[in-house]
Amino acid sequence: MIYLDNNATTQVDKEVLQVMLPYLETEYANPSSMYDFAKKPAEALKIAREQLRDFYGAEDVKEIFFTSCGSESANMAIKGALNCNKSKRHIITTKIEHPCVLNTYKVFEKEGYKVDYISVNSEGQLDVDELKEKVTKDTALVSVMWANNEIGVINPVEEIAEIVKSKSPDTVFFVDGVQAAGKIPIVVRDTQIDMVGVSGHKFHAPKGVGGLYVNKKCRLTPLINGGHQERGMRAGTENVPYIAGMGKAAELAKDSLSYEASEVKRLRDKLEQGILKNVFNARLNSSLINRVPNTTNIGFEYVEGELILLHLSDYGICASSGSACTSGSLEPSHVLRAMGIPFTALHGSIRFSLSRFTKEKDIDYVIEKMPVIMDKLTKISPFQDELNALRNLRK
Ligand code: PLP
Repeated sequence: MIYLDNNATTQVDKEVLQVMLPYLETEYANPSSMYDFAKKPAEALKIAREQLRDFYGAEDVKEIFFTSCGSESANMAIKGALNCNKSKRHIITTKIEHPCVLNTYKVFEKEGYKVDYISVNSEGQLDVDELKEKVTKDTALVSVMWANNEIGVINPVEEIAEIVKSKSPDTVFFVDGVQAAGKIPIVVRDTQIDMVGVSGHKFHAPKGVGGLYVNKKCRLTPLINGGHQERGMRAGTENVPYIAGMGKAAELAKDSLSYEASEVKRLRDKLEQGILKNVFNARLNSSLINRVPNTTNIGFEYVEGELILLHLSDYGICASSGSACTSGSLEPSHVLRAMGIPFTALHGSIRFSLSRFTKEKDIDYVIEKMPVIMDKLTKISPFQDELNALRNLRK
């Protein structure tokens, strides 16, 4: 099996699992309890919070909150900030955010908030000038993802934070950092960013645990009310094994950043160039610059993405399609549509996402199999004239 879908989820690192096991087997006490048996779980939370603080490049452990996933982190940040100050009714975000952000704003739109969705160009890069123009004193919240999950584009969030605060100092700036975490450095110290959400399962911790950095100056109302956990900001007995695992995963991810930037990027580039060179109907959807090192998104013209995925799967290759299957109908990706990717490639777009566990031989295998698959699929495509024209053009 060749796993090239690491933006969907990642394998748990064995070292992470080892850190988690004692809290599942023997050290199961509630970390809030008073007896000695609770000391180890309480200590595990303390260590994980320090590891997350270092991962975020934050100043203080009090700025780190544990959640259950990236979606909860986004909801906690957005709803927490907007419900804390209801006098401002304007939100700015981008057209290429994850549904956990976009669908949260839909709820606020129904309540009468005005939401501006900032455009991207054909390479997925954000129109920062458009964003700058939209910020006013009535803007309650701006949110921009650090890196996009489908195409890997990196947004200049530090610069955007400066712009937002210079125009409206009390506007809150939230960053969905889920796809940046573990791929590029996310250093919040000395920036004007208020909040950054991450999700453990995207950087080799298990599913079901996430984190939120909240700058000390930023005020939130809690999303989950109840006990005193997370200093009253997120009630519920802490998921000690998973939090301990995410702490270790964060430490390992931080140590692997230079490997991501060099080796993972080298393999990604090899895969990308290998496919673009050997498959005549392939076109790059991702931008060549400002991109996380592990992601490529390639459009295969006049071929259906789901068919490509099934054929890849027959060869044991896991990747992901640019289209999301919504209630039985195939809807092209909102990200690729925002970029204006031509209709001919929209439905046949495939995302390959690598990790530090990806091997060179895996990449060689995919480069070998992709032309074989495409040979089969172009033969059964109803667009024979268009494919022939493309073949001649790219000869
Ligand atoms: N944000 C981005 C950019 C993502 O890619 C994802 C997951 O794919 C999420 C948020 C949601 O994370 P989770 O699945 O942990 O809720």
